[in-house]
Amino acid sequence: MVDGAELIINGRHIFPGVRRLGEGPFVPLQQAVPRLGGRVAFSDRGPRLIGLGGELPLEGEIIRDGDLDYVPLLLVAKFFRAGCYWDQSSNTWVLGQENPLLRGKSILLDPGHGGQDRGFEGRHSLEEQLNMDLARRLQRLIELGGGFTLLTRLEGEGPSTQERIETARCFQPFLLVSLHHNSSFDPQDQGTEVLHNGRWQSLRLARCIHGELVGELATYDRGVKEVNHGLLRELPVPAAWVELVFLSNPGDEALARQPSFRQRAAAAIYRGILAALS
Ligand SMILES: [Zn+2]
Repeated sequence: MVDGAELIINGRHIFPGVRRLGEGPFVPLQQAVPRLGGRVAFSDRGPRLIGLGGELPLEGEIIRDGDLDYVPLLLVAKFFRAGCYWDQSSNTWVLGQENPLLRGKSILLDPGHGGQDRGFEGRHSLEEQLNMDLARRLQRLIELGGGFTLLTRLEGEGPSTQERIETARCFQPFLLVSLHHNSSFDPQDQGTEVLHNGRWQSLRLARCIHGELVGELATYDRGVKEVNHGLLRELPVPAAWVELVFLSNPGDEALARQPSFRQRAAAAIYRGILAALS
């Protein structure tokens, strides 16, 4: 973070983002606080944060920059009991509070391919690595939100479809999201699609994730499709299979290689999961 960074609160980007003012990261007060379930009150006692945790005087904490009031990120995170971290690769500060929709829910994330199976090899990218990167970003968001996660593989591992199904049987997740990047012989093919197994809960999950993804990324919309694939077919839980973009398409591949694009995609998938749980 040099002068600024992007800001995600509870899975949603906040504009403008984080500024480096004085000693550390600051967030825009009026934009950030409502996203954390609070408000700002102004009175003759000075500005105060109001939230479930009570009140916090902001006297002396606010720095004005242009037209906006900024307050220290860590002060806001602590008051609203939000976990936070800075993702260096995408230069994004991520704040997240426990979400009642995720409480007690376990979510299985399946980064496609791995090990000997590298997935599609783009000109400048390897599918299995991008799938894993997306899964790790999504995992952190879900855990900030209070959900449990398990991955079907770790970095360098390449379990078979049958082994992934076994993992799902043991873990008995509430739902599963499989993460892939697409490819085609035709380099013109591009865009985002989400697959499902035809069962209505999977269709609903796929639709929720798809809607958030194409809205966030503005990639070419290939829709939601039913497929008869082993992993999706065999699982007794709602399951969606994301094909984020085409690594065989130069424009799509350039997007997929940007950490900030993958961070936005992970946030969109997170919101899609929340929408399907609501
Ligand atoms: Zn794949």
